[in-house]
Amino acid sequence: MSSADCLFCKFVSGVVEPDVVGETEHSLAFRDINPQAPTHVLVVPKRHVANAGELAEVSPDNLQDVVLLARAVADDEGLGGDYRLVFNTGAGAGQSVFHAHLHLLGGRSMQWPPG
Ligand code: 5GP
Ligand code: ZN
Repeated sequence: MSSADCLFCKFVSGVVEPDVVGETEHSLAFRDINPQAPTHVLVVPKRHVANAGELAEVSPDNLQDVVLLARAVADDEGLGGDYRLVFNTGAGAGQSVFHAHLHLLGGRSMQWPPG
């Protein structure tokens, strides 16, 4: 299922072409347009679901695939095993695109707690 109004579905279908850095049969990884770290990549399931919890419910294999693709991209980027993975869920937590996406952030030191 895809949503005609969904930006990341347009990336998956190729109607709009992001800066792709990795892909599997079920997931796509591309650079964030507004990077918050030297490496800032978004990894999305190719199917349209709103958030990580929904993806876990409908396709746990796809959730695993998303995380494994993020790890592979982190390795490709030379992050040396130091990176942050984030799923924002809900507008109150900072989610602005309602197609599930995993943020891969790396290449600088990270603070905790996040803002
Ligand atoms: P969220 O705030 O939903 O967790 O993350 C959405 C992310 O999508 C943001 O980091 C934002 O910079 C990114 N984004 C929004 N529009 C575009 C776009 O047109 N292209 C790319 N590559 N990233 C985008
Ligand atoms: Zn979508």
